[in-house]
Amino acid sequence: MALVALVNCSQLVTLAGANRPRVGAEMRELAIIHDGAMLIRDARIEAVGARSKIEALLNSDTQIIDAGGRVVTPGFVDAHTHLVFAGNRADEFEMRCSGITYQEIARQGGGIRSTVRRTRDATENELLAVAQKHARWFLRSGTTTIEAKSGYGLTVEAEMKILRVVRETEETTPLRCVPTFLGAHEVPDEFVGRTGGYIELVIDEMLPLVALHKLASFCDVFCEPHIFDQHSAGRILEAARRLGLGLRIHGDQFSCSGGAMLAARLGAATADHLEHTDAASIAALAAANVQPILLPGSVYSIGSRHYAPARAMIEAGLAVVLATDFNPGSSPIASMPVVMSLACTQMKMTPAETLTAATINAASSLNLAAQVGSLERGKSADFVVHEAGDYREIPYFLGTQRPAMVYAKGERVV
Ligand SMILES: [Zn+2]
Repeated sequence: MALVALVNCSQLVTLAGANRPRVGAEMRELAIIHDGAMLIRDARIEAVGARSKIEALLNSDTQIIDAGGRVVTPGFVDAHTHLVFAGNRADEFEMRCSGITYQEIARQGGGIRSTVRRTRDATENELLAVAQKHARWFLRSGTTTIEAKSGYGLTVEAEMKILRVVRETEETTPLRCVPTFLGAHEVPDEFVGRTGGYIELVIDEMLPLVALHKLASFCDVFCEPHIFDQHSAGRILEAARRLGLGLRIHGDQFSCSGGAMLAARLGAATADHLEHTDAASIAALAAANVQPILLPGSVYSIGSRHYAPARAMIEAGLAVVLATDFNPGSSPIASMPVVMSLACTQMKMTPAETLTAATINAASSLNLAAQVGSLERGKSADFVVHEAGDYREIPYFLGTQRPAMVYAKGERVV
């Protein structure tokens, strides 16, 4: 591939810095180059700097990308999504609008279980077509890397089918996908009242197959007292760790019930949700270097006002991550700029902090910080040319932001 130069950026927001997740005041340091430029060779970033410095390196064959005086950032990294599911739950959305709660709908057999029934019935090809459509939504919003969980199959075969679809989405679209096994997302209909039996299925049959076929990098568990309590979640995650998988946890979403504490005890990569996490749990996460993944889109979508205590976490030195939690029930949102806006207005994060949380910190949580999450020499040429002159406009113009251009692995995809 020829040499490519990106020029004419009002702000080249590089996020260059220490080779580790950013904490405290570092989350507000974006390493912006005004009138910056970038040189790309073979889909990798070769040089980043002032326009004059980069232009001196060009030859007559260099292909020029003119950013048109706009802001350029790294492609967003969405570290918590449920990419693969069949059907949608617009009917439940309407019910929630009339005042029925998310938990009440779940008790009536709706919620995750209704998506599980449809996802089990769908063929692998049907699910791949849906996942590819979702991949286009992510890319169009400027997201070039996602984490993608299983969890709408809940049988051995259906969970493996979903993880294969994640891999096929990665192979057939420009979106980079990191697979996570979430067999313990919910107790399926046929195991209601026999949670212990389902946990044995996850540990004895699903996890060994996931590891054998290398279908996931991480294992996640939905840790809430009425679903998988701290003890059960711990057993599943310890089994996953013995098989070499990294650990993530859905925790403290509806109550402070030990999810974050468990993540700290196991040294998990991330603890996700944390809307009800208390000060002692925050201190435990900090001591264990667990990254919190905050999901304000799901708080907004279920009509709650109980957002995670982001400011306390940043002050405690946690390397905060933001993600969409994209799923058909509690967060039908694929846009990181929307999530960043919610984080600013509802959790009082600054625009700079949200950008760090949506790029380099998210990449760190997926062990991908050497490849993506900032614009630095040697990294993949994943970047977004925003319809903006200043990065603060990204969360500020809520719902109107559409990137002018998106590049993934050096190729223009939007
Ligand atoms: Zn989730």
